[in-house]
Formats: sequence, structure tokens, C-alpha cells
Amino acid sequence: MKRYCLVYGLCLCLFMGIFSCIPEAPEHKTEKDASAIVLDEDSDIIWRNFSLGRISFDDKAPHSKGSRIFRRLIPDTEVYIRQLSRIVLHTLYESPEEYIIPVHHLRFMLEDTDGVACKWGGNGEVAISCSTRHIESLFKDDDDAAKVYFEIRGVLLHELTHVYQQEPQGIGSYGTNREFRAFIEGMADAVRIANGGFHRGAYRPTGGSYMDGYLHAGYFFVWLRDYKDPEFLRKFNRSALEVVPWSFDGAVKYALGSEYHIDELWREYQRVMEEEK
Ligand SMILES: [Zn+2]
Repeated sequence: MKRYCLVYGLCLCLFMGIFSCIPEAPEHKTEKDASAIVLDEDSDIIWRNFSLGRISFDDKAPHSKGSRIFRRLIPDTEVYIRQLSRIVLHTLYESPEEYIIPVHHLRFMLEDTDGVACKWGGNGEVAISCSTRHIESLFKDDDDAAKVYFEIRGVLLHELTHVYQQEPQGIGSYGTNREFRAFIEGMADAVRIANGGFHRGAYRPTGGSYMDGYLHAGYFFVWLRDYKDPEFLRKFNRSALEVVPWSFDGAVKYALGSEYHIDELWREYQRVMEEEK
């Protein structure tokens, strides 16, 4: 069974950033991030008519501190997941008329486990699990409530992207192909970034490769949206249906035009980041 997980190592690094290494974003920027939580009215109406299937909540650790914190911050889990799902769908798709993988039942659960969160399943039956230990580890006192809420929202944007994103064809699988994995995890973080799921630029890595997925690829994809084509994320997602066998270079040519090359774009992006330092 395909299982896409946010691993402890990655998130430990991020949380160390939030709480100790990187200064808080200025207040006005934080407010701007948070405003991305809702869709504009017209978009929301369009996606409200799209069937998200049944969403159930299974709290497997109801007596844990992490569960109590989660339920206090997110009193109505189903409503919240539906709201975030519409944001994810709007980021990945132009309209509900496009081919979107149908989801008949999304099972969301809290579990007393290590790690951060996972998504698994398929054929319309999917599950997302969040770790209560992880939530508990972030919540030292009531002053942390906003930060923990911000983190839960970001993690759910990432995992819900796994539920609704298209997957590359003709190049193996998540477990066997690095390019496949980098696209899947890069898009999940891109959707999170595009919707204010990280404090602005605070975790944008320099160097490395888009093949590292996650934040390396995610910030790169959002930069391509901001500076090359406002529809980039949607076109890049759609490339998984249209470019077979899928490749990063084939996908950017599909999204931006045949004159573009993935490695040249990456080098341009790296140069811009260096200049912005
Ligand atoms: Zn992931």
C-alpha cells in the first residue's frame, strides 16, 4: 500500500526553526499568511459543489494530551478538513470539470505514534494519520496554541495534497523512483507554501536540487508560479496526466513551453535566491 509520510527528521528541523533558530516573521507578514486560510467567495462556491465524499474522524488516542490539544484547536474536524480540501483543490485544479481522483471516504485519525503524519490508501478509500505525540511535543504552554494550530494546518495542507494530486506515470513508483518522489513531495510542500503554510521564506533552502523534493522543490515550484506562469502549479499537476513517461524536464516544457529546461530554470532560481540574501 502506498504510504506517504512526513518523517520526524524533516519536521524536527522545521520545528527547531520555528521555535529557536529562525526569528519569528514580522507581525504583519504573519497576518498575511493567515489570511490565505479561506478561498474567495466565488472560488469557495465552485468547490463547495464538488463532492469530497465522506470524511470520518477516528481518534485513536483520545486520552492523550496531543488529542486534547488538537480537539481544542480544531473543534469540528470534518468541517475543517473540508475547508482545507477545497483550498488544496483550488490550488491544484482550475475547476471541478478537470479529471480529479475521486475520493469516496477520507478517514482522518489521531494516533499515538512517532513521526508527524502519513497519507495512505487509494481507489477512493484514503486515510491520513496525525501523531498526537508530535502535537504534544510542540505545545509547551497556552502561548504555543497559535503556533501549533499553524503547524497542524500546514501538515494537513501537505497531506491533503497527497490525496488530490496527480501522480507521474510510466516511471515506476514513489518507492522506486527519486523523480517520482521529488514531484509528489515537492508539490505537497508547494501547495502548503502557496497557502501560507510556512512563515514567509523562513524555511526556503538554498543549494541542493529540486530532486530533493519537499521544500527544495516546493519553493522552486512556487517561484515558477510567481515569475513564469501564474497557472504553473495547476499545469505542473496536470502534466502527470499528459506527459508519459513523466519527467521534470518534460513537465516544465508542458507547463511553460518547449524553450524551457528544468536545470536552467533551477540555476536561475538559485541565482535569484543568492541575490535576495
Ligand atoms: Zn508528503
